[in-house]
Amino acid sequence: MIRGRIANCAAASGSLGHRTVWPARNRWQSRPLRVRISAETPAHGDRAVAEGAGSMQFHLNGFRPGDPAVAEADPRRREGRPAGSLPAEIDVLIVGCGPTGLTLAAQLAAFPDISTRIVEQKPGRLLIGQADGIACRTMEMFTAFGFADRVLKEAYRVEEFAFWKPDDAHRGNIVRSSRIQDVEDGLSELPHVILNQARVHDFFLDVMGNAPTRLEPEYHRRLCGLLIPEADPAAPVTVRLERLDPGHAGEVETLKARYVVGCDGARSAVRRALGFALHGDSANQAWGVMDVLAITDFPDIRLKTAIQSAREGSALIIPREGGYMFRLYIELDRLAENERVGSLNVTPEHLVAAAQRIFHPYRLEVKEIPWWSVYEIGQRLCDRFDDAPLDPMSGVTPRVFIAGDACHTHSPKAGQGMNVSMQDGFNLGWKLASVLLGRAKPALLRTYSDERRAIAHELIDFDRRLAAMFSAPPKDPSDPASTGVDPAELQHYLAQQLRFTAGTETRYQPSIICGEPTWQSLATGYPIGRRFHSAPVTRLADARPLELGHAATADGRWRVYVFASDEDPQAHSSRVHGLCAFLDDPHRSPIRRFTPPGADIDSVIDLRAIFQQHHHDLDPTAMPALLLPAKGRLGLRDYEKMFCPARRPGRNIFDLRGIDRRQGSIVVVRPDQYVAHVLPLDACEALAAFFEGVMRAPC
Ligand SMILES: Cc1cc2nc3c(=O)[nH]c(=O)nc-3n(C[C@H](O)[C@H](O)[C@H](O)COP(=O)(O)OP(=O)(O)OC[C@H]3O[C@@H](n4cnc5c(N)ncnc54)[C@H](O)[C@@H]3O)c2cc1C
Repeated sequence: MIRGRIANCAAASGSLGHRTVWPARNRWQSRPLRVRISAETPAHGDRAVAEGAGSMQFHLNGFRPGDPAVAEADPRRREGRPAGSLPAEIDVLIVGCGPTGLTLAAQLAAFPDISTRIVEQKPGRLLIGQADGIACRTMEMFTAFGFADRVLKEAYRVEEFAFWKPDDAHRGNIVRSSRIQDVEDGLSELPHVILNQARVHDFFLDVMGNAPTRLEPEYHRRLCGLLIPEADPAAPVTVRLERLDPGHAGEVETLKARYVVGCDGARSAVRRALGFALHGDSANQAWGVMDVLAITDFPDIRLKTAIQSAREGSALIIPREGGYMFRLYIELDRLAENERVGSLNVTPEHLVAAAQRIFHPYRLEVKEIPWWSVYEIGQRLCDRFDDAPLDPMSGVTPRVFIAGDACHTHSPKAGQGMNVSMQDGFNLGWKLASVLLGRAKPALLRTYSDERRAIAHELIDFDRRLAAMFSAPPKDPSDPASTGVDPAELQHYLAQQLRFTAGTETRYQPSIICGEPTWQSLATGYPIGRRFHSAPVTRLADARPLELGHAATADGRWRVYVFASDEDPQAHSSRVHGLCAFLDDPHRSPIRRFTPPGADIDSVIDLRAIFQQHHHDLDPTAMPALLLPAKGRLGLRDYEKMFCPARRPGRNIFDLRGIDRRQGSIVVVRPDQYVAHVLPLDACEALAAFFEGVMRAPC
């Protein structure tokens, strides 16, 4: 039986509720042991600069000249096919080159044993427009892909949030009501930044192009058919792609993919093929957005600013990268029932005039509009994000997934669309890779929809309330009977929600990849289900200060962080030695059990240790062998597994993250940087059982 079919290859493209205009010119050793326990107050508030970017490791398999960011190309990548053609059978087909598809593709590109393709109906990469807000959590994810520093260099950094409201004395004027800190101290080591979505795409494309697979998008190809053989849950999905490139236009290619991921936006063809729909509020409020180069005497033009005018609507200013440009979101008219934004015939001139009225009494002289768009607000969510039967007992695992705007849409003002969508891609990427490489049980794939749908649901609830508050007129204090929203209330709501918009509030529920919080008290700053909150450390072997979280890359590996107890970790009687002896045991160790024969011992589960002592007081060579593993073709030692607290006062990771100093703790972290489990140092069997629940031993 065949289900989920798109009959018409000429299905319409475009984005729901958006009408975008692209101006033609802009298209597109050992010493006596001292445990120095800091009595200082844990310092929060130093997120000024992360302690250096994650350091790179290379020359493991012999000296190799050139740029270490460019991996050695896998010789199989072209499979003897002519340029421009697609293989008949692949492992993963990603549909859509938006931020969701590119995050997923960049993750899968790291695995030469997985055959991945990404198709896009547009003729080439994005050059301009769409989303621009990059949340702290997203920046943390970018460290794993190795380009957070590039983003930091180019982007605008959001430090404060300003609020303007109608002047009580002259209601036609606006006045500043307050300025607040945008990201609370200690929330992340990385800032909230603003950068054009197109540049984010570029960085992901670089990661893909430098990966062993040299993965590149197949542009000018539109998915037009999807056949899922329901009778055989192990059979691949048949995909039909229509070529749109000159010389091949109209040609239809057919290929088989073990997994298909629809990252194809709000009008997702993959979603429609699954027979799924987005459910939610119908849009009845139109907004305009434009990137402008303008001259103004408005004092907060280089601050993220929310403006509520008395009678002319609301606006949001988002300063942009480069120092001159800024984005304006402008409230337009309410739409009547069944009215579409396109029917308003909004022009850039309308948007400028509306902005000038809202800015009164300040002057706004727009010189250039590189990009603009109008859209309707609608908070909509798909019931399911994959094609698996709802009953987990069916044993059937998904083959088709949807991610990003394809399964959740919301207003852009909270700056969440791109961020949440990329986290969808990051969540799914390592799961697909683990299953395809035979490292994990296929049941892992079911956790994608469960986890990400719950997060999308929270986002939509937040966005619905925010959008309503933004669109409501401000209350007039001189008229107690006036309806609307008190500007102080909007400000309070936004201030309260800044953690949420920073992306750090995401918490996954207990599952096969998130343990129960039985031993949470051993590491209170690492709540299970939340992202691994980085903290500064000093690397033992070379005294380099760095962020612990930045040592992890987007390579599909699990991380086991061993926070040592207050004993001498060099002593064979220490708990760290005891744990490492277990983890080195060929018969009982989950690390040994799940590492393929011949592979480096850290290739699936990467063990790292953090000691309480000053780094001058420990000898790396006195530590268990597993923390100084021999790796690669030459059997070289990896000296980068052990860390000590940062030297700066108030920055001790044991204090910052609430680690029980007497007992120590094991913190298991998923490949997507989320805390999977917290365990005591002697909970060897519990650790093994956790991995047994999700991993698969090599055949
Ligand atoms: C016009 C527009 C303006 C936006 N403005 C803002 C904004 O101002 N602020 C904000 O925060 N967010 C904005 N967004 C939303 C933000 O860009 C999205 O939330 C984010 O891009 C979601 O990423 P995605 O990868 O899921 O989908 P998209 O970025 O929509 O990417 C989907 C990709 O799939 C491709 N595709 C679609 N169908 C097919 C097919 N059948 N075959 C092959 N390829 C296909 C599309 O061409 C597109 O490149 C805007 C979105 C759009 C479309």
